Amino acid sequence: MKKVLVNTALISTLAISLILVGCGTKAASSTVHTYVGSVNSTVYHYPSCASAKKIKEANQVWFSDVSDAKGAGYAPCKICKPPIN
Ligand SMILES: [Zn+2]
Repeated sequence: MKKVLVNTALISTLAISLILVGCGTKAASSTVHTYVGSVNSTVYHYPSCASAKKIKEANQVWFSDVSDAKGAGYAPCKICKPPIN
């Protein structure tokens, strides 16, 4: 009887841990802003690039990584040279 209770508690703890880890990963990926582009161009920049700073906030398009930017049809800036892959 006692053994069954321990096992149930262990499974519950594991389940809660998995849920917490899953939520944490999701929250992190949705808040990562690594590269920025403009809705009026097809170039992505480091946020520190002089050209990137000229993009109005309303026109900014944010990407979490290069594959995200390339998937949207954007190419790397020739001034700040973000990674191609
Ligand atoms: Zn740039």
